[in-house]
Amino acid sequence: MQKIVDFIQKTFNTKEFIPLHEPRFFGNEKKYLNDCIDSTFVSSVGKFVDSFEKEFALKVGSKYAVATVNGTAALHIALILAGVEHGDEVITQPLTFIATCNAISYCGAKPVFVDVDLDTMGLSPASLENFLKMHGEIRDNKCINKTTGKTIKACVPMHTFGHPCRIEQIKNICDTWHIELIEDAAESLGSYYKKKHTGTFGKLGAFSFNGNKIITSGGGGVIVTDDELLAKRAKHLTTTAKIPHAYEFVHDAIGYNYRMPNLNAALLVAQLEQLDSFLENKRALSCEYAEFFRKSADIKFIEEPKDAQSNYWLQAVLLKDKKERDAFLKFTNKKGVMTRPIWRLMNELEMFKTCQYFDLSNSKYLEEKVVNIPSSVRI
Ligand SMILES: *Cc1c(COP(=O)(O)O)cnc(C)c1O
Repeated sequence: MQKIVDFIQKTFNTKEFIPLHEPRFFGNEKKYLNDCIDSTFVSSVGKFVDSFEKEFALKVGSKYAVATVNGTAALHIALILAGVEHGDEVITQPLTFIATCNAISYCGAKPVFVDVDLDTMGLSPASLENFLKMHGEIRDNKCINKTTGKTIKACVPMHTFGHPCRIEQIKNICDTWHIELIEDAAESLGSYYKKKHTGTFGKLGAFSFNGNKIITSGGGGVIVTDDELLAKRAKHLTTTAKIPHAYEFVHDAIGYNYRMPNLNAALLVAQLEQLDSFLENKRALSCEYAEFFRKSADIKFIEEPKDAQSNYWLQAVLLKDKKERDAFLKFTNKKGVMTRPIWRLMNELEMFKTCQYFDLSNSKYLEEKVVNIPSSVRI
């Protein structure tokens, strides 16, 4: 194990503490932030929000992008716009960051958990289809869960650590079963499935720009869609549902104050300019890790799945078993090389214990063995 620590220290060219993921500000960040302060437009209106939304849509190949205050808010609004209501069910994966399930819960809906694929660590189309064949039934163009009697309104797959899941197959299954597809693409900016950007397969997609993501606005998120009406409604709902007017305050719905401040957007515009170089840097790191771990019998480096191009946001390895994993975590963290286990399964958390779930053997397998290793863009 000391060899691994030595390799990571050499790779990052330091003997000091190596965090899992640090942001990098090599570009126009200070310039744009100064522009923003000089103009006094630091808050909810300003040119950086508009230019970010344009640039981002172009980057991922969606027609529209609506910036939000964080990724969770983006997911929340995407679910509302997909029609998720109180008492509905939303299918997702148990191996995800808590925000996916929180956003579903904010709508008054309940998550239902199906398994992930071992190679992608994202929602498994086979598990989804098996679940629906066993529990689903189409009535009046709606998918009803025969076991609970509730409507399965949407499905939210997540592209784990930037590795795209089998999103095309998932989309086909959702279409067949009249289920809306919303992608949690929070981790996968710069990741493609068969040359199409993740987050653009579903009705709506959500990204995050939290401090630990591939690019950051401090805190922030964005909703993408090709549907003009949905984009307009997303903007409306995230800006307190205020009817545009020069001086009057009239609101036509209970909206949300989910808009990204211009100050954050200024940082983000500068970060987006550097995305391609960050992606290159991360891919080079993944190649070095892959080569190093190829020599190891007990630790496998997780590479991008077939048909996909991953952003390698967080690099990950697969240990032999839970005992080996725990020893690895303890050793590396003690040596100042930060490593972290993948998430606890959502269905095992107190809040989601009563949610329905399917055979989750792949999720369980990965939960016990996957560890993230230092992944920052190297200077
Ligand atoms: C980061 C993240 C989010 C949203 O994050 P915010 O911190 O709210 O921006 C949602 N889902 C996943 C899987 C994430 O990793």
